[in-house]
Amino acid sequence: MECLFCKIVAKEIPSTPIVENEHVLVISDIRPKRKVHLLAVPKTHVESWNDISTLSPEAQVALNSAIVDAATKAGIAESGYRVISNIGPHGGQEVPHLHFHILGGEPVGPMVA
Ligand code: AMP
Repeated sequence: MECLFCKIVAKEIPSTPIVENEHVLVISDIRPKRKVHLLAVPKTHVESWNDISTLSPEAQVALNSAIVDAATKAGIAESGYRVISNIGPHGGQEVPHLHFHILGGEPVGPMVA
């Protein structure tokens, strides 16, 4: 298994779980870009958002819910936050396992393309 996030899901690499259930793991980003920077990762390996339809409907719902649960747990649900998924080379995706960045804890600023 070469995938970094699969290894984190399998607990072969340590992480800081914020939310975990059957389908999803939400961890702290190792190089936070904002005061709060979390990553919501489906436990099933799919390369990017392009492949979201290959996740079960239950896993897709769980992924959406886990983002809100993690934001609530991190105390940023009311102040607001940004959710980003980078897709492929032009999207700046470094880890080819679908994940959502959850950024907040301070104003994240204008969206810069
Ligand atoms: P992306 O560029 O969208 O693929 O984002 C990959 C993210 O994974 C980056 O923000 C990295 O800081 C983060 N990352 C890389 N390795 C780890 C790790 N071991 N634990 C937590 N986050 C990581």
